[in-house]
Amino acid sequence: MSNANFTTPIPYNEPVKSYQAGSPEKIELKNELKAQKSSIDEISSIIGNYQGRGGETSTITSPHNHELVLATVTHATPAEVDMAIQSALDARKEWAALPWQDRASVFLKAAELLATKYRPIINAATMLGQSKTIHQAEIDAACELIDFFRFNVKFAEQIYSQQPNSAPGIWNKSTARGLEGFVFAISPFNFTSIAINLCCAPALMGCTVVWKPAPTSTYASYMGMKLLEEAGLPAGVINFIPGDPQMIGEKVLSHPDLSGVHFTGSTETFNYLWKTVGSNIDKYKNYPRIVGETGGKDFVFAHPSAEIEDLSVALIRGAFEYQGQKCSAASRAYIPKSLWPELKGRLISLCSDIDIGDPENFTNFMSAVIDKRSFDKISSYIEHAKKASDAEVIVGGGYDDQKGYFVEPTVIKASSPTYKSMVEEIFGPILTVYVYDDNKVDETLELVDKSTKYSLTGAIFAKDRHVINKLSHKLENAAGNFYINDKPTGAVVGQQPFGGSRGSGTNDKAGSIYNLIRWTSHRTIKENFIPITDYRYPFMDEE
Ligand code: NAD
Repeated sequence: MSNANFTTPIPYNEPVKSYQAGSPEKIELKNELKAQKSSIDEISSIIGNYQGRGGETSTITSPHNHELVLATVTHATPAEVDMAIQSALDARKEWAALPWQDRASVFLKAAELLATKYRPIINAATMLGQSKTIHQAEIDAACELIDFFRFNVKFAEQIYSQQPNSAPGIWNKSTARGLEGFVFAISPFNFTSIAINLCCAPALMGCTVVWKPAPTSTYASYMGMKLLEEAGLPAGVINFIPGDPQMIGEKVLSHPDLSGVHFTGSTETFNYLWKTVGSNIDKYKNYPRIVGETGGKDFVFAHPSAEIEDLSVALIRGAFEYQGQKCSAASRAYIPKSLWPELKGRLISLCSDIDIGDPENFTNFMSAVIDKRSFDKISSYIEHAKKASDAEVIVGGGYDDQKGYFVEPTVIKASSPTYKSMVEEIFGPILTVYVYDDNKVDETLELVDKSTKYSLTGAIFAKDRHVINKLSHKLENAAGNFYINDKPTGAVVGQQPFGGSRGSGTNDKAGSIYNLIRWTSHRTIKENFIPITDYRYPFMDEE
């Protein structure tokens, strides 16, 4: 034991590499892409030191190339799910007892490994498995995950340093234990960083975890497990069980030692998880903490004083980067009549300029959507708009799944503010625009605030300072991440803590102190230095 109060390194955001032609990072990445494409990985559960033998198998193919097989996945069996829970419970004893600085060191080491050796590995896996361009992979799988590791360590230190006051003669202390039991982490397909952080945030705080990755991003998630193993994460702290969501969910959620659910994904799935926890409440030893970041229908509201050039670029990047499959993607825009003709022209021209295809062709700005279910859902919205009397496709509207699941960037103009694609989460490259009368700003703000069940991200574009102030105030409850003259995507850990309320989640802000607190249970300790020798109080004496 060292007699010292250690402070952790000051965190900083990992610089985003440019991957410009001929750069060392681009050469390294191309080599890694080639290597990953030339072998088929065999992925199975990682439960302590046991590797799953499981039952059913499936293959992972690339969304932009049906013929490219990346891995086979052996699904966890019901018995292996039980083993994963037991493994987490067994590992907790030593992991929770480890000085927190030792736990922190594992994740700081992971950050450095990811900034170097694992950067091309996890970026290539995210490009091939989830069809991200290199820039989208770099800002997610490399930089955001490195930032989660580094910043969370500092936030943990802040939590542990918060101590109560002490009156004379006593010393009060507070300890923040990891939750008793185990945490169930369930991850979405669209962000490699979010998936791995769903496990690592509770683990940093002393919890142990059972992790069900998303079927469509299991490839990069598996690389994340390899990274954590190499960083020195003890076996059993995070137990990786790919497989049938329903079966795994039912088994894990009915276990008496469930102490927390850490989820990112759709609102529907989160509602199911919450209801299941509710219906099992009598079984648990503790009340499980439930943290979920869920869906969105993110808005851009343009005031007549907005700059059209900034607005149009923000709409293109905000709506179509990563094929609109960001929970924060701009998917509904409110544009004043006075700006619409010019903006329309720009959107048509910018969309027509966008190249879509294999992310290995670095000239492409967009690639494929994640899978057939998603492709069918997105194309059904396009078909609906083509036939609807209250909507019109302004640009795009094409889709093709022969080689991969490709959908053109599509702008729909809706004449009703509650038209289907204006209010429902689609999770694809569709932006719906509603054009409002310039003198109906207040009524339109009501629509922005009230016409969907979500409250995740939103952006306003305006020049006038009084207007900016008014819009910020009026839309206070409409977005957990609110942007002024910027696109509603691209939150950075340590700068814009991320999350929303209403149907968008519990707003515990991933990558912040608020999230980490949810994985701790506090014990208050009072030590008395002045023993009390008489049970009687002075007031009890005779006058
Ligand atoms: P999804 O809800 O389909 O799946 C999320 C995870 O839940 C997957 O691992 C899936 O296998 C699992 N799951 C599904 N049914 C289950 C069940 N019955 N029991 C246990 N697990 C089950 O979501 P997705 O398609 O992977 O991700 C897209 C969604 O995620 C969008 O709605 C998006 O807005 C949301 N998202 C939100 C944020 C945020 O921070 N708010 C971030 C990323 C994604």
